[in-house]
Amino acid sequence: MHELSLAMSLLEVCEEEATRIGVKKIKTLIVEVGELSGVSVPALDSAFGIASRGTVAEGAALSIRNMPGTGWCLSCERAVRIQDPFRSCPDCGGSRILPTGGMEFCLKEFVCD
Ligand SMILES: [Zn+2]
Repeated sequence: MHELSLAMSLLEVCEEEATRIGVKKIKTLIVEVGELSGVSVPALDSAFGIASRGTVAEGAALSIRNMPGTGWCLSCERAVRIQDPFRSCPDCGGSRILPTGGMEFCLKEFVCD
């Protein structure tokens, strides 16, 4: 289960940061999830609910920021919008696209009491 390990890594960062700044309870986590990251947000949400029990982030809400998928088409030599990493270029139909954005999965910040 991919999402469970992602939830655990979020919690690890939370625990570390909370200890460092002396926070006892985290209310909301702001997480950037790229369109091309392959992360299922509902699966992440439920995995997080389970994995956060007994941690500083127990009961915390995940606030997801969806990051758009972008790529660079080597044939058109310009930036294109893509919704999955194996998609061909919407303009020329070519498959030589370098993903340039949308692979994000990171904790941006958290909100505490
Ligand atoms: Zn193209």
